Amino acid sequence: MKKKIAVIGGGIVGATASYYSAKAGYSVSVFDSGTGQATAAAAGIICPWLSRRRNKKWYRLVSEGAAFYDKLMADLASDGLETDAYARCGALILGQSVEYLQEVHDRALERREQAPLIGNVAILKGTEIKKIFPPLSNVEQALYVGGGARVDGRELTNTLLQATSRFGGSIHKGTVSLSKDNDGTLSVLTPDGRQQKFDAVILAAGAWLPELLQPLGYTVDVRGQKGQLVVLQTENSALQDCPVIMPQGEIDLLPFGQGKTVVGASHENDKGYDLQPDASITDPMLEQAYAWLPDLKEAPVADIRVGTRAYTSDFSPFFGSVPGLDNCFAASGLGSSGLTSGPLIGYLLTELVREQQSTLPLEDYPIDAYIKQTTC
Ligand SMILES: Cc1cc2nc3c(=O)[nH]c(=O)nc-3n(C[C@H](O)[C@H](O)[C@H](O)COP(=O)(O)OP(=O)(O)OC[C@H]3O[C@@H](n4cnc5c(N)ncnc54)[C@H](O)[C@@H]3O)c2cc1C
Repeated sequence: MKKKIAVIGGGIVGATASYYSAKAGYSVSVFDSGTGQATAAAAGIICPWLSRRRNKKWYRLVSEGAAFYDKLMADLASDGLETDAYARCGALILGQSVEYLQEVHDRALERREQAPLIGNVAILKGTEIKKIFPPLSNVEQALYVGGGARVDGRELTNTLLQATSRFGGSIHKGTVSLSKDNDGTLSVLTPDGRQQKFDAVILAAGAWLPELLQPLGYTVDVRGQKGQLVVLQTENSALQDCPVIMPQGEIDLLPFGQGKTVVGASHENDKGYDLQPDASITDPMLEQAYAWLPDLKEAPVADIRVGTRAYTSDFSPFFGSVPGLDNCFAASGLGSSGLTSGPLIGYLLTELVREQQSTLPLEDYPIDAYIKQTTC
């Protein structure tokens, strides 16, 4: 009989884990409440190589996470699910001094030796910039990074869950809770009120992992951070092949298909799990965007997306076997780079379920540093 796997959470981690588990022949049930999901709110940039962050373990995860997209897209395509949720469109870094751009340029070249995906790296001048992004205004110099990509989190997870269904998996809307039976095994209380047993349980609950594990006597070092972005509807559908723009300051600009341009994203630590759109935050983001792309002033707002990112106290993601629970695996704390690392982490969780050697060293992302048992 097929082994039964429950996946709790249908964001990028859970959806990828579900897809690869179902593809490997397991009987997969995905449970997702959907409330506040970071992935569905995120239309994001995959360009991790330029960061000044010195944490080598984090850099390895995001760098290999960016490269993993090639495998993910090829696997989905070979399973008959083509999607334009992901595109390697390049990235332009703007609004910085020549010295700063030169520093980032040199760092990118150095890192390219280990990460050839970075691709073409060049400092461009006014007319060259206009050629690759015609509506950009007042930009004299920019750094171009050919390997930069964009991904629509919502569309990608929809495709992954569709692929999971094709391999026989089932997707359930609603919130589940966990309990530990007298024999020490885990039960999942599913949204239809049934108490179910599984051969393995994957907890991909993002910022809600503390809430899920608290009834079992665990504390989890994860907090929520509110993120908002604005989707503008332009009449210019030719921009979808243009690079994503990473100007100085908080915002990024991402042209997508059908004339949509995303302006994102806020990082609101003091608002935690709040999901209300807040114009006092998004209006200044739009003002910054208009300075680079004045045509956007005419574009109506098509959507405001709000989601909750998960952060640990030292900003490091973690994944692995939940201490004290057999055949229960979890990941969280992906922060603002979770679209980059999430698919790889989802895949790594599948490796754990299959008892395979992990592609990345688990001790570099130690789950027991963040999940502590307070009672038995
Ligand atoms: C506005 C915004 C912009 C972003 N931009 C970028 C970017 O440019 N680049 C980048 O790399 N990353 C970006 N991120 C970060 C990235 O989106 C997240 O780190 C990543 O999506 C987290 O994925 P996850 O699967 O861990 O969690 P989530 O996507 O939050 O999924 C967790 C799911 O579990 C469900 N759940 C929780 N508890 C239960 C339960 N008890 N029962 C059932 N379901 C449950 C939740 O409802 C949710 O649907 C951005 C995030 C936001 C919000």
